Amino acid sequence: MDPQEARRILEEERERGLSMIARADSSEALEAAKVGVLGRKSPFSQVQRSLGSFGPEDRKRLGMAANELRDALQAALDERRRLLAGAEEARLLEGDRIDVTLPGRRLRTGSLHPLTIVEDEMVGIFTRMGYRVEEGPEIEDDWHNFEALNIPRDHPARTMKDSLYVEIPGLLLRTETSAVQIRTMESQDPPVYIVAPGRTYRREAVDATHLSVFHQVEGLAVDEGISFADLKGTLETFARALFGPDRKVRMNPDYFPFVEPGCQVAVSCFKCDGTGCAVCGNGWIELLGAGMVHPKVLENCGIDAERYTGFAFGIGVERVAMVRHGVSDMRMFVEGDVRFLQQFQGAGV
Ligand SMILES: [Zn+2]
Repeated sequence: MDPQEARRILEEERERGLSMIARADSSEALEAAKVGVLGRKSPFSQVQRSLGSFGPEDRKRLGMAANELRDALQAALDERRRLLAGAEEARLLEGDRIDVTLPGRRLRTGSLHPLTIVEDEMVGIFTRMGYRVEEGPEIEDDWHNFEALNIPRDHPARTMKDSLYVEIPGLLLRTETSAVQIRTMESQDPPVYIVAPGRTYRREAVDATHLSVFHQVEGLAVDEGISFADLKGTLETFARALFGPDRKVRMNPDYFPFVEPGCQVAVSCFKCDGTGCAVCGNGWIELLGAGMVHPKVLENCGIDAERYTGFAFGIGVERVAMVRHGVSDMRMFVEGDVRFLQQFQGAGV
């Protein structure tokens, strides 16, 4: 290569290089253009390698021209690179762009479980009457679950058939929330007015009206001069608050070891007003068990049974919820089917 040719190449390369750089439309294309105009095999590099064979005058002149061309091409590359980076970023941002005109996605809010709604409602009726809410452990000992409640050793409730025991001897899953009554009377002098809502456990064959895990709201009142009439008045108030002001309450004698006398309490049907329908059958809805606290139970808790009397009752939450909402199968409450649970959204709150 002679100096004449070198000069020509440098001039051509300026035009060719700048045009290649300007046409590069991506980082990859620009990288290829750089190799093409300044790379080891480029005409520009060939000129640089030939400089050593020229005379001093040509070497100096063409060397300066080559440096000037390299700087110009390098500047064009840098400028093009900046431009492409900006464009690529803009393209990415465009892909992520949020269209604020699209309709929003509505947050799906949950709701309380129907059993929680009914339990809250029941507890609320009693707290408005001045009762306090008490809670206790779900794993109980023999004393609080049976013995103190006057349930003798040979009572069916004590056998494995009805109770769920844990591996530690003497402990079991509570069969009713009555143990909370015992714990309260042991730790507090009368007057006592409490309700104990909570989960209870029994060894049951699960069917439409039985679950092995279910809920109760139990109540206890112990004071001077409490009579059966107070029990009846209290339960009537409860039944009317829950099922309407015209409800009547019926009490039939029944046996529970911890009360004397004891009774089954039914309320006149809120659907048919006592004439008989699909909800009630014969006009009455069996609602709960109740009675006057057995003197033995008071004494077991260190309360003077000569001075104090009391009443107690226990209500099944599932039972009330079924009657209240016309649910025919208790298992629906625990199956977790959203289509079932959604129907109670906003109920009773
Ligand atoms: Zn009815």
